[in-house]
Amino acid sequence: MPVKQIQNYIGGQLVDPQSGNWLPNFEPATGEIYSEVPDSNAQDITHAVDAAQSAMAAWSQCGIDQRAEILHRVADLIDQNREELVAIESRDNGKTETLARMIDIPRCSKNIRFFANLAMGLASESHSMPDAINYTLRRPLGIVTCISPWNLPLYLFTWKIAPALAAGNCVIGKPSEVTPMSAHRLSELCIEAGLPEGVLNIVHGSGAVTGDALLNEPRISAVSFTGSTQTGKHIASVVSPQFKKLSLELGGKNPNLIFADCNYEAMMETTLRSSFANQGQICLCGSRILIERSLYPKFRDEFVQRAQQVKVGDPQDTDSILGAVVSQPHYDKILKCIELAKNEGGKILCGGGPARVDGRCANGWFIQPTVIEGLPNDCQTNQQEIFGPVVTLQPFDTDDEALQLANDTAYGLSATIWTQDVSRANTMADRLNCGVVWVNCWLIRDLRTPFGGYKQSGVGREGGLEAMRFFTETKNVCIKY
Ligand code: NAD
Repeated sequence: MPVKQIQNYIGGQLVDPQSGNWLPNFEPATGEIYSEVPDSNAQDITHAVDAAQSAMAAWSQCGIDQRAEILHRVADLIDQNREELVAIESRDNGKTETLARMIDIPRCSKNIRFFANLAMGLASESHSMPDAINYTLRRPLGIVTCISPWNLPLYLFTWKIAPALAAGNCVIGKPSEVTPMSAHRLSELCIEAGLPEGVLNIVHGSGAVTGDALLNEPRISAVSFTGSTQTGKHIASVVSPQFKKLSLELGGKNPNLIFADCNYEAMMETTLRSSFANQGQICLCGSRILIERSLYPKFRDEFVQRAQQVKVGDPQDTDSILGAVVSQPHYDKILKCIELAKNEGGKILCGGGPARVDGRCANGWFIQPTVIEGLPNDCQTNQQEIFGPVVTLQPFDTDDEALQLANDTAYGLSATIWTQDVSRANTMADRLNCGVVWVNCWLIRDLRTPFGGYKQSGVGREGGLEAMRFFTETKNVCIKY
């Protein structure tokens, strides 16, 4: 079967990359190339920024209600095409269709509606003085870029572009070249919704070429990036000297703190999900499980037994709990991390290698849920992000020790705490060095709350008003009475 070639979305049109070159795109469940992605270069970026510049005045100056109405039309079309998008996302990423149906795709339209509504309700601040009054205008930044990763492709892409567009900016979006297909379908839906030409441009390609051209385009005034800490570091070094506004959502090595007084069944069920959901490829997955020593043997034995029952299979099958990991390089990386854990003295309690899936998926990139114990917190396995279905177990004796282990990492994205003791939960939440804490739950998301990490997990916050503030510039006007 011929592979499908997708196109860039620039100035309201679907266009080929100017180089005439495409990159291969693989289906993780089969290991086969099934589409080709534009290998866009600086010329494509110039074209997209020209288009955005032409659209800027009309988009930024039209009424907020007009912008919101168009964004709602895009959200409606996402909902109307939900099943098609579920199939696209699952095939492109390797995640199960069930997960894409439950989490990814519903969140895309929700993101767009949420920020369209939020923009409608934004008010200007005003500060009065005895002899003067100040009012603070919030204006769009102009042309901004949103660069997103492959783990939650359309979910994170819309999470970025929605506030940017709602605030009145024109956007050049660059989805991950590893999972470009849902953003391509979004281009078609934006055309159908009547989004004015040039307001949103989606340019596909590699980080090194397409991404780099975006970072160095002088007319782009802000970069909103989600991805690895390593890439984030590079982006900061290129963008900061240009004084572009920068938001970085990066990696994590999140701890789960499990106390003996927790609601055991709820903790067990949720910890299985927080360990392995999306093959462990969610930045919020808990990869270091810290367990109070008196509960450790019971927890370990049952957790391992239940992890062994998690079905890894064809992402299209409704009984598959885990699908494939996203790419051959990522599959190789995870297996190498498991080897490193063994070399560091870790004991593999279950999993530890590829998962065999027969039939059409025989050559896909599947990995068994893997649980490791016996490693100190300062080893590489417990310090480096693996971003796969791999977790470690460590016992602790006191609250202070739990906290010390939890905070002993270069990252600081999220944590979960499992205890029935409200006072302990509050104290722990206060003392954890991370941006998101869940108590007796995981991944409950209110889009109004600030989202982001401490330390090497990022700079700045997304979500709710934080995102609207990032994508706008304030101007204070002072009038003397
Ligand atoms: P990545 O850093 O390799 O790539 C992310 C995006 O950046 C892609 O679109 C890529 O093409 C682009 N990119 C790469 N090099 C670039 C460059 N030199 N200039 C400009 N753009 C460049 O990350 P990934 O492997 O796609 O995603 C996985 C990582 O993302 C993990 O570390 C995960 O923790 C992190 N993540 C963080 C969050 C969060 O909210 N904190 C959410 C999801 C994923």
